[in-house]
Amino acid sequence: MPKPITLRDIGNTDGQLVRLDPAEFVPLPHPYDRPDAQPPLRSLTESQRQRLDDSLDGFTALRLPRPQSRQEEEKLVRSFLAGVRRLLSRDDNWTFLGPLMLRLDYCAKCQTCAEACPIFVASGRKEIYRPTFRSELLRRIIKKYVMPGGRIWGAFQGADIDLNWHTVARLGELAYRCTLCRRCAQVCPIGIGNALLTREIRKVFSQEMGLAPVELHKLGTVQQLKTGSSTGMTPAALLDSIELMEEEVEEKTGMKFDWPVDREGADLLLIHNAGEFLSWPENPEAFAIILEKAGISYTLSSELMGYDAVNYGVWYDDVQFARIARKHAEVARKLRVKKIVIGECGHAHKALTVVADRLLAGEMNIPRESCLTLLDHIVSSGRLKLDPRRNDFPVTLHDPCNIVRLMGIVEPQRRILRKIAPRFREMSPNGVQNYCCGGGSGFAIMDGVNFPDWRSGVAGRMKFKQILEAFAGELDPSIPKYVCAPCSNCKGQLRGLLDYFDATRKCGIYYGGLAELIVNAMTDFEKPFISFDADQL
Ligand code: SF4
Ligand code: SF4
Repeated sequence: MPKPITLRDIGNTDGQLVRLDPAEFVPLPHPYDRPDAQPPLRSLTESQRQRLDDSLDGFTALRLPRPQSRQEEEKLVRSFLAGVRRLLSRDDNWTFLGPLMLRLDYCAKCQTCAEACPIFVASGRKEIYRPTFRSELLRRIIKKYVMPGGRIWGAFQGADIDLNWHTVARLGELAYRCTLCRRCAQVCPIGIGNALLTREIRKVFSQEMGLAPVELHKLGTVQQLKTGSSTGMTPAALLDSIELMEEEVEEKTGMKFDWPVDREGADLLLIHNAGEFLSWPENPEAFAIILEKAGISYTLSSELMGYDAVNYGVWYDDVQFARIARKHAEVARKLRVKKIVIGECGHAHKALTVVADRLLAGEMNIPRESCLTLLDHIVSSGRLKLDPRRNDFPVTLHDPCNIVRLMGIVEPQRRILRKIAPRFREMSPNGVQNYCCGGGSGFAIMDGVNFPDWRSGVAGRMKFKQILEAFAGELDPSIPKYVCAPCSNCKGQLRGLLDYFDATRKCGIYYGGLAELIVNAMTDFEKPFISFDADQL
């Protein structure tokens, strides 16, 4: 039996720290209850391993190149320590220094948080994924290498971590083995947010060392600031895609109308995650239909970033976060709208409504609302003609962490589903106790090397188990079933998860947003709005 890993092993120089074996993971129900029904986890190829560090658990999110010389190793350790020092400086980290210090100072080491963490539990309780593992590493590094006298007295205070290149590389990867779902913080008796410490580690890597997952930084925030969207969609491409969606709506429903774009003085500015336009156009189409039928005064924007609510900075970099959040507020101010409404995108909710509160003041502090409360208001007002019998298939609801646990928006989406989906059933647990989809904090878009296998096989495992359990007894593929996930990021993860486990073909499980289900229940249209066609996925 291998020796259990301890914190001091983090700097080991003899190869991969932990090997994952799906046979040790949390078991899944039928038809995934046999070892041969588990998709394998791919390792790095030999040539990838020569270039990239996978010494934590055999996976790579950051794609850290292996240093080629002792000097390079030392340089990286020095820049890591410089970044940690900055975290503790009021001038460099004024937004988060207070919350960070609270989380560094107090932890009762009771381990209540461990059993709440879907990644720790799903992995078969691997020590490295314990919520406190990375937090405690950061604490001990600070005590020994940053606090005065730490190197001399640190060992007496439990600060016994050796800081070398391996420690730094593994800590960087560990910061991307947590979805920032905050389920652990919810059960902690003293409210410690391990997720905040994880994000602070990500900040050191990004802001000081220039190391961040390419999908979040180069192809994410950098591309968004340059082209207007993390998808690379320019304002001209947006207008083309709106034209196409208008035609599609006419084809599907017979409704012909122009979508409002850049209408100054409208009541609301609706900002979708631009990924919807490319991957799930039926979602913005459903919003357009609902708002048109309900007679809501709103507009979309074609200004740079005004059509993409994405703000990946919220996951790894304060500077990038602030640039994008300010731009969102500026677009709304220019259009003179009364409010910004954020479409079905969880992290965009968190970025613009919660975290941006630290940033937007005065005339930039424009009211922001979730689309879920707006949809609830429209459905409850009776402005739409709805017949729940049109949604006569099993439906379950995924609670996006950022909207539900973080913002407390629990009931609006349920009130809607109880009205329009007669075969709606809850997952267990649900609401603020939900499990993350496994794609949180950027994982859903991180498709490099072998990371998607870890994301689906480990991070999304508890969610997949919940989905199978919610549809127990109806898993026959001939019965189409709908996982309602009102979040673009969660939908991206569900797409990968269902694909990884081949669950649409094997079990007839589909996914989609909430707005689509509302339109599917509308009696105005002859044909269903939602189609269940495994070949079209
Ligand atoms: S539950 Fe809170 S106090 Fe207890 S170990 Fe976890 S973070 Fe520390
Ligand atoms: S935030 Fe979520 S994934 Fe991260 S340690 Fe806590 S429970 Fe685990």
